[in-house]
Amino acid sequence: MSAGRTTKTLVMKFGGTSVGSPEALQNVARIVRDAKNDWQNLIVVVSAFSGVTDLLLQTATEAVNGNAGEIGAAVNELYTRHDMMVDALIKTAERALAVKREVHGLISEFSSLCTAIATLGEATPRALDAISSLGERMSVIVVAALLEEHGLRAVAVDARQIVETDNHFLSANPDFEATRQKTHAVLHPLLQEGVVAVVTGFIGATASGVTTTLGRGGSDYSAAILGAVLPADEVWIWTDVTGVMTADPRLVPHARTIPILTMREVAELAYYGAKVLHPKTIRPVVEQGITLRVCNTFEPEAAGTYIVRERANHAHQVIQAVTAVRGLQLITVEGRGMLGVPGVAARTFASVARTGTSVPLITQASSEQSICFAVPQSSTQQVIRALEEEFTRELARHDIDRIWATDEVVIVTVVGEGMRNTPGVSGRVFGALGEKRLNVIAIAQGSSEVSISMVLDAKDTIPATRTLHDLIVEE
Ligand code: ADP
Ligand code: ASP
Ligand code: MG
Repeated sequence: MSAGRTTKTLVMKFGGTSVGSPEALQNVARIVRDAKNDWQNLIVVVSAFSGVTDLLLQTATEAVNGNAGEIGAAVNELYTRHDMMVDALIKTAERALAVKREVHGLISEFSSLCTAIATLGEATPRALDAISSLGERMSVIVVAALLEEHGLRAVAVDARQIVETDNHFLSANPDFEATRQKTHAVLHPLLQEGVVAVVTGFIGATASGVTTTLGRGGSDYSAAILGAVLPADEVWIWTDVTGVMTADPRLVPHARTIPILTMREVAELAYYGAKVLHPKTIRPVVEQGITLRVCNTFEPEAAGTYIVRERANHAHQVIQAVTAVRGLQLITVEGRGMLGVPGVAARTFASVARTGTSVPLITQASSEQSICFAVPQSSTQQVIRALEEEFTRELARHDIDRIWATDEVVIVTVVGEGMRNTPGVSGRVFGALGEKRLNVIAIAQGSSEVSISMVLDAKDTIPATRTLHDLIVEE
């Protein structure tokens, strides 16, 4: 037992890129081995290998459209990806064989499910969850074997045994109490034996055992759920960047790591497009006083970002970060007669909700002659149809003149708790955009005053993000 070892519990989650190549997986093995020296109870939550969930879902969609020919190609790719990893990492012949046998069984399951979908010409959300769950079910087997190869005792755990959810397929909600009981029953005996539990991220099951998923990017949430119910002392999210940064480094190359962020800041960032953390991850963990940290599998010695409930001292930076959500359109419901129509806003959003579309931003003109909100581009047509149906009578009477959508837009958001107490931030934000002649189409300020969001034309995404990022660096 090393000097630093405690009887404490750590949950570590490794994302798709962190398990996406043999080199990355070697880092994972080293990180887990080091952590096992310091932590008595270690739970490792794993995503599917990078790109695998996309491949599974794309193939299912092709199968619905009658392109059953794609199934064979996807099956081959899954064999190649997983076998290559096993060949590179698992040198004990018997172990490698056992892993391949299990993984190949899951690939056959994938093939049968897709063939059934192609025959039916339809994939229900429930079927899609069954298919997309396979990515994590395969990756945990490889990762557990890899850890054993490195001399650790490790067991692959299928989260369907421990994470109980409702049947809201494609984005299921956990039942924390049921999950707590199942987690204790399954994980405690393993942890007591000093075994590292390697748990599938992203997936769960209903009380009757039907497979569900927590939504895309949901492995972060899996780690948070397990952290909350165990409870863990700390939850570390290992990814391919060094923590939460001042902007997506793909948009702003000189973005830098933010050492400490508050729960509210990171929640706004995640909600407004910072893919680095699934938005649901933060609450269950930080509210319980569990330390949440985001760190880089490819730079393990860097501290990354710690997420805290409150900032101890007043933040030096007023604006902490800038994010962008792309692929949206603004829908406007407008008409001079709207003033007299009761409940237009309520009816508008009720119809949108019935289409299952989430609305990241709403603005209403003070004259009440228009309501304007953002939706993902993929939902625009469906939402407009639903609104035209809801307001058939008002459209005929010209109380509502038109319901229309803009071209593609982006929401760019600046985030920082310091904005609450600092006058003039919005002046600087709009001043900077104005100087660059970047046109703001709509504005919304979060009621928490932790963020200001602006809608711009999609072509302005990079200049607007970089211009606002300069405001941080200037401070
Ligand atoms: P994982 O597969 O590990 O879950 P994701 O791809 O889901 O990783 O999230 C990490 C990615 O999030 C980064 O590679 C980065 O491009 C993107 N990202 C977006 N905004 C930010 C931000 N503010 N800070 C860090 N990364 C960000
Ligand atoms: N594999 C899942 C996805 O790609 C979950 C995750 O990686 O967090 O969405
Ligand atoms: Mg992710």
